[in-house]
Amino acid sequence: MSTRELNVICDACKLPVGDGEGYVWIDYGEINRFETAFRTWEEETGTEVAPGRKVRNIMDLYNGPKRVRWQAHHKTCDPDVGAGSYTIEAERLRTWADLADWTAQLMGLRWLSGTDWSDVLRSAAHSAGLRVTPVTPPTVNT
Ligand SMILES: [Zn+2]
Repeated sequence: MSTRELNVICDACKLPVGDGEGYVWIDYGEINRFETAFRTWEEETGTEVAPGRKVRNIMDLYNGPKRVRWQAHHKTCDPDVGAGSYTIEAERLRTWADLADWTAQLMGLRWLSGTDWSDVLRSAAHSAGLRVTPVTPPTVNT
């Protein structure tokens, strides 16, 4: 009864990840490194980007530390199996509704804006064939 609208594509072997075979994930260690780099950068540039504060110059934000990349892997292709990570199993990311629901959940996490989740969404919408990609190219009205 499950309809598959989305495929998770492994970063390593570029093949779809079947149910129980893998996940989309992000490394907590990299998030911590990003947050440390971001605080240092805030201090050095005088740009304060924290909840409730204003960005003085959007280009300063653009030039900040590189955001942490979400990855997609088969368990057998994962280069860093032991990493502490936030993990979304492939079988729980099969429909557009799943993607919307995960996005809503992730938006409650303080560190999401330090990641490239927006790129994951955009590449799914535009059928880029990476990480999370639709089985059938969708209509995008933008
Ligand atoms: Zn793989």
